[in-house]
Amino acid sequence: MNQSKFGINTICTHVGEITDEQFKGAVSPIYVSTSYEFDGVDVKRYPRYFNTPNQEHLAKKMAALEHTEAALIFGSGMAALSALFLTFLKSGDHLVVQNTLYGGATHFIREELPKYGISFTFTDGYEVSDFEAAIKPNTKLIHIETPSNPLLTITDIAGIAELGKTHSILTSIDNTFASPINQNPIDFGIDIIMHSATKYLGGHSDILAGALMASDELIGQIWHVAKNFGGNLSDHTVWLLERSMKTLALRVKRQTKNARKLAEYLDKHSDVKAVYYPGLKSHPQYKLAKLQMQGFGGMMSFELRDGLDALKFQKELKLIKSSMSLAGVESTMLSPSLTSHALLSQEERDAIGISDQLIRFSVGIESRKDLKADIEQAIKNIL
Ligand SMILES: *Cc1c(COP(=O)(O)O)cnc(C)c1O
Repeated sequence: MNQSKFGINTICTHVGEITDEQFKGAVSPIYVSTSYEFDGVDVKRYPRYFNTPNQEHLAKKMAALEHTEAALIFGSGMAALSALFLTFLKSGDHLVVQNTLYGGATHFIREELPKYGISFTFTDGYEVSDFEAAIKPNTKLIHIETPSNPLLTITDIAGIAELGKTHSILTSIDNTFASPINQNPIDFGIDIIMHSATKYLGGHSDILAGALMASDELIGQIWHVAKNFGGNLSDHTVWLLERSMKTLALRVKRQTKNARKLAEYLDKHSDVKAVYYPGLKSHPQYKLAKLQMQGFGGMMSFELRDGLDALKFQKELKLIKSSMSLAGVESTMLSPSLTSHALLSQEERDAIGISDQLIRFSVGIESRKDLKADIEQAIKNIL
C-alpha cells in the first residue's frame, strides 16, 4: 500500500512498525543488540549510529508525521536541538533566534554557543521584520518556536521560511507545542523541524526523547555530527515511544478540543482577567494561527483577576496537578514566574509579559466537566 496516502491515525498506528516474522506477534519486536555482524552486510549497525532496527523504523513514523523524507530520534529534545545547532553553525557563524524560547534552549544558546565562537541575536519581537533586522552577513540559521511558551504568541512560519530563502539562510522550528497533529511547518517551507518527544509524542509523562525531521540531505548532514556527540535514544525507550505514538492523534485531538472549550469557558469567567489561546477569536494572531495550524493545540495561559493569588489557587486544585512538564494525558498547571522564567529579574519578566498572576495550563484528555469543577472549587476556596 502507498503509505504516503495514509490518514493521520493510520500513520500513528502503523507506519514504521516492524513485522514480527518469527512469531507473528501484533507489535514490533524490540532489538536490543549493541553488536551486529560486520561481514557481508550492507548496513554497519550500531546504536550510536541511529541505525538499529527500532530506531530506523520509528524514524519513518516521525518523518511521515511531519511530511519529511527523513528523521533522527534523540535521547532528549535538547540532544536534538544541540545536534541541530552544532551541525549548521561553526566558529564565526551567527544565529538568529526568536526572543522567547523554551528555557533550556535559551540556556544552551547563552551558555554553550559562545564556547564554540558562535554568536547569536534574540529578536526584539515576533514579526518577520524583527527577524530580518537581526540578520547579519554571517547568519547561517534562523530558529523559531510557535506557539511560544508561555504566552502562545504566533510567528509567521511561511514568512520566516521565505526570509530564509531570500537570504540563503537555513530555517528551523521547535514544533513541540503544536505537535505534528496541529502544525506541519515543512509545508510552509521551513527546512528543519525539532520536537521534544518528551511532550506530546510521548504523551504520558514517562519518556525523555527528542527528534529532528528534514530532507534526506539535511538529516544526512546532521547524522554525521550527531553520531559523534552520541545522543541517540535507547532501543527500549524507542519501543515505548512507538507504543505511545499509536495514540498521538487521538490524544492531541482530544486535548485540542478540551483546550478550546476550556479557553472559551475561562475567557467568560468573571474571576479570570486574561486568557492566552490562539484559538480564541480575541487572540491578536487568531487569523495567522488558523492559517498555519490544523488545530490550536492543548496549551494555554491565563491570569486570575487582581487580588486572587495564582499560587494559592494552584494549591487548591484536586484533580489538575501542578507540574513542571507538559503535554501529558493528565492536565497540569504551573506558574512560569516561579519555574521556567524564575532566573529572569522581575523587570525582565514584566518586559515580556510574564506576571506573577500568569498560569500555564497544559490541558489533558479528562472529562471537561471534571476539569471545570476542579477550577471552580479552587477559585471558591481562595475568594
Ligand atoms: C521540553 C521542551 C524542550 C526540551 O526537551 P527535553 O526533552 O526536555 O530535552 C524543548 N522545547 C520545548 C518547547 C519544550 O517544551
